[in-house]
Amino acid sequence: MFLGFGVVGALAPLALAHAPPSRAASVITVSAQQLLDIDSGQLVAQPVVRIVDGVIADVHVRQPGEAVTYDLGAVTLLPGLIDCHTHLVGGEGLSPFGYLTETPARAAIEGVANAWATLQAGFTTVRDLGSRDLADVALRDAIASRRVPGPRMFVAVRSLSVTGGHGDWNELPPDVHVQRQTAVIADGPEGVQRATRENMKWGADWIKILVTGGVMSAGTNPLQADYTLAEIQAAVSTAKARGLDVAAHAHGEEGILRAARAGARSIEHASFLSDAAIAELRRTGAFIVSNPYTNYYILEKGTAGGFQGYEVEKSRQVYQAKLDSLRRAIGAGIPVAYGTDAGVQPHGINGRQLSIYVAAGMTPLQALQSATIVAARLLRREQQLGRLRPGFVGDLVAVRENPLVNIRTVEAPLHVVKDGVLWWSRPAAADGQAPQAPAAAKTAVASPGPVGNNGPPRPRPPSPVMGREPAATPKAPAAARPPSPSLAAPARPQRSPAPRPPAAPQEESVWR
Ligand SMILES: [Zn+2]
Repeated sequence: MFLGFGVVGALAPLALAHAPPSRAASVITVSAQQLLDIDSGQLVAQPVVRIVDGVIADVHVRQPGEAVTYDLGAVTLLPGLIDCHTHLVGGEGLSPFGYLTETPARAAIEGVANAWATLQAGFTTVRDLGSRDLADVALRDAIASRRVPGPRMFVAVRSLSVTGGHGDWNELPPDVHVQRQTAVIADGPEGVQRATRENMKWGADWIKILVTGGVMSAGTNPLQADYTLAEIQAAVSTAKARGLDVAAHAHGEEGILRAARAGARSIEHASFLSDAAIAELRRTGAFIVSNPYTNYYILEKGTAGGFQGYEVEKSRQVYQAKLDSLRRAIGAGIPVAYGTDAGVQPHGINGRQLSIYVAAGMTPLQALQSATIVAARLLRREQQLGRLRPGFVGDLVAVRENPLVNIRTVEAPLHVVKDGVLWWSRPAAADGQAPQAPAAAKTAVASPGPVGNNGPPRPRPPSPVMGREPAATPKAPAAARPPSPSLAAPARPQRSPAPRPPAAPQEESVWR
């Protein structure tokens, strides 16, 4: 049913919005060596999580001889992770011209593959902030009805941009007209109100507004505030009337101040957080969603890696500022919800930013909380998402090591359960010894996950081409182990080095 999914999703309990298709009650039990209580940081030994119809019924200590559906062995269970800033639809690494050559159908199919990669990375929920051709709405609904595997999605449809702003085609001459929009050009409070209402009509769960210039757009300045306070207020009040919230893309101080004053619930990027901006965030209770990994990735790949010169240049100028701002926000107690802007960098490596949050001052537990309970609070789903407790959705991730000791173990989960279904177990071969899938194979779509009602879900077969850049060493336990390929290399523990921030820019920043 199309009618009002987004509205229902925003207002009603999650269980209603994501009610499984009618079928017999499905019950699974999952046990492991230990479980991390995400609130206290305590490790619970020998837990059993019982999930009935996709919702956690209880968590108890395993009794001697107690049978379970999946005994995952020597792993730590975490709640399913949440990425509050993704762009699932569309191919990776496209130049501005390459982007114009991608059909809507291809973009949507790429979205299906990207959703699968995201789920395999342990991210069972995403807030997808800006898409095209309503493919985000279609993907959200296909995932919710289990037609394709992927994370639960909250979508923003089209981002709102001023004329000449971050969402406009500023590099094209005026006689070249491009119909394609990931953003909708909306000027003035009335234009913003109309665009907001159109997005809501088409199924938006969130409204995304591009308040300042950005890194990935030609001819815009991240420090420049493009939208006026009145325009942002028009988006916020129009969204609020339908129970929706606004996510504001804002790098520079003035844009952050305006967005917070207007009542935006989250500030995306938040690269230049002044004391005044921190005070305003504290006053309004807005969250920041900081994505330093994106700029790290762009600087690492550079123009040789396909990025435009202006994208590299502007990344150099925001990267250090964004890290400094994140550090100061953490110190000031501003809620930081985890978000990666995946889609600029490849999907499926969403967990890599956790160690940057730790380097910026969070404890490993706080970094995990930013991707669970804090993110759930941003989404107004703190009673349904982000915890392993009765009444919460049956989403859990099994990782090899204690993430409080090695946060990077979260980058390559061994098992992912969503809505009470074990969707994926990492093949034993994909442990760093396995040959890297050729680039051409990386977009291959894996077989769809379990659909419907044929008994208890079974472990999914391995999908080597989708196992991306594994960082930890998995060895699937017998209960959930997929058939191991005969040429599987022996497992060898591997810990890749933490990402090093690129060297500080030598030249004077033009944005400072
Ligand atoms: Zn983005």
